[in-house]
Amino acid sequence: MGRIILSAGHDLRDPGAVALGTTESKEMRLTRDLVAKELKARGADFISVPDYLSLTGTIRWVNANAVPGDVAIDLHGNAFNGSVRGAEAFYIAKNTQRQKDAQILLDALLKAVPGLPSRGAKPDTVTMHRSGLAFCRRIAVASLLLELCFIDNREDLKLLQTYRDKFAQGIADGLIAWNSRNLKQREFPLINIRVKDNEYEEKGVLVNNNSYIPSDLVELLGIKVASLPEIRQISYGNIVYIKAIDLQKFDIAIAWENQTRTVVLDLRPRTELSGSEQIMGLGNTTASELKSFIESNNENALAKFPDLPELYIQESELEGVNHDIAFCQMCLHTNYLRFDGRIKPDQNNFCGLGSADGSPSGASFPDPKTGVTAQIQHLKAYASNDLIKQQPIVDPRFDFVPRGVAPSIYGLGRRWLPDPHYGDKIKSIMMRLYGVF
Ligand SMILES: [Zn+2]
Repeated sequence: MGRIILSAGHDLRDPGAVALGTTESKEMRLTRDLVAKELKARGADFISVPDYLSLTGTIRWVNANAVPGDVAIDLHGNAFNGSVRGAEAFYIAKNTQRQKDAQILLDALLKAVPGLPSRGAKPDTVTMHRSGLAFCRRIAVASLLLELCFIDNREDLKLLQTYRDKFAQGIADGLIAWNSRNLKQREFPLINIRVKDNEYEEKGVLVNNNSYIPSDLVELLGIKVASLPEIRQISYGNIVYIKAIDLQKFDIAIAWENQTRTVVLDLRPRTELSGSEQIMGLGNTTASELKSFIESNNENALAKFPDLPELYIQESELEGVNHDIAFCQMCLHTNYLRFDGRIKPDQNNFCGLGSADGSPSGASFPDPKTGVTAQIQHLKAYASNDLIKQQPIVDPRFDFVPRGVAPSIYGLGRRWLPDPHYGDKIKSIMMRLYGVF
């Protein structure tokens, strides 16, 4: 744990950029050798990716050799039209931790090589690869791609060839700073635990958005942990923790209170906890949980609709609708925003709403917000007799709904859609949503 994985961009067969009598691949191998020397001198733990591996092979090699807590860097030389200069560091877009890491690395390089201009830390989606850089995205541990300079620019190349030792010292400093920061982040945040209505005196830990509770508490609940290999556990600070969601098998309901950072265990059988099927009510998930849920089912789901999780929460709360239900209904209708059915993304119609005139392509809305509002209004029309708070009514079929006939999702079958199992389908997506956290 906590090693630095060094990769020199391109490989023995692919030279990368070729300019001014040299190749990117050659320059990066020479630089990588010096970085390795610097890391060794500083006592850092590191490994180097073999130079015969292509990018795909490199990613496979790193993923086979890395363990959680390692960091990985790919070194490149840029090329454009010969007149552009400077260093830049790429991180996976929208990851603010990695953005800071990229800045740390770049700052260390610039500090060691004063004549080198900075082009900044940049999200990997601003490159010619619009969907991002494989090295930033497909590596299982924290990874960055560093463009040291422009090797087709005479000044930059001369700087690199003359002061390669300085480049290597700066990169080594940056890698060590990033690596120790990354290790510190592996201290997991503590969370509160409540069992029924009682605060439990011990704390749990939050690991990758999952609640873990001490195994002795699990034993107190009457569950024999030792005999259950399928339960996920981690050891941290000499305490064994169990993944809370795995206790659902034992009719223990698990909920998360975001404001108080509390995992709530309820000993009632899950079947009695029927609140989650009631359309009018509060949702349990946060916007970032909805985001990671849908992206785990469709990586690019939110590319066109980045605000959708927040919109679902806001619009649902305005009308008192459970946003988890509305969001899962959207996932069902759009196949996690793939829109592989009749309705197209530009219609901003996330739940198969018909148009007022019954046209076969269904309703269209001017923007995502209006589309979500219409869905929430339609849900509220079915679930309650209460007034719609957010006027005007944008749901084109609002007036056709018999008000309040379906308080629970199970009442939507044969109504919202002819499918009698419609409610079960929404419920199974909800179970997956809750199962993730
Ligand atoms: Zn390159």
